[in-house]
Amino acid sequence: MLNDPATIDAPAIWPDSAFLTAVEARSGEKVSRCYQCRKCTNGCPVSFAMDLMPNQVMRMVQFGLEEEVLRSKTIWICASCQTCTTRCPNDIDIAHLMDSLRQLSRASGIAAGEEKVVKFHEAFLDSVRRHGRLFEFGMVGRYKMATLDLFSNIKIAWEMLKRGKLKFLPGKIKGKREVRQMFDKK
Ligand code: SF4
Ligand code: SF4
Repeated sequence: MLNDPATIDAPAIWPDSAFLTAVEARSGEKVSRCYQCRKCTNGCPVSFAMDLMPNQVMRMVQFGLEEEVLRSKTIWICASCQTCTTRCPNDIDIAHLMDSLRQLSRASGIAAGEEKVVKFHEAFLDSVRRHGRLFEFGMVGRYKMATLDLFSNIKIAWEMLKRGKLKFLPGKIKGKREVRQMFDKK
């Protein structure tokens, strides 16, 4: 008989609130408020490259699907443009949430869905820590060595060099030591 509890299969997913609680504590964002209107997903300019849509990430966090969320490509593909944040009727800062999920992903030790993006983040931050600001030439060198992707975009690099957009040495800035101290505090 339809709707007879005895004939209804057990659900495939039992919601586990521990991950939801951890994500809300880390981000300060109320993921539990999400009611799946999809306004975030419909406005996202890079959803075409994602394996989970932003609204699916929200639902999966509510369901406690920690590993699936933390190993997704989506949290690394997100460009932090904040379109979703401004569209959410529940005032959830989804861009900030994605940032928190990236931090949780790194802390968890789960293999990232987009390892090259992680390497890019690491090269970028290392450059700022060392030089007080971004030193593009050094950052690209570190990124290329880390990914062994040595020859892509050579033409673009050459054009930038010709136009003086890439410097071989880092520029001097004030406050370099203070920037380093900020990194060392974390
Ligand atoms: S912040 Fe990220 S998830 Fe939100 S719209 Fe921009 S790219 Fe998409
Ligand atoms: S816009 Fe906000 S409420 Fe709507 S699906 Fe996205 S996160 Fe949920």
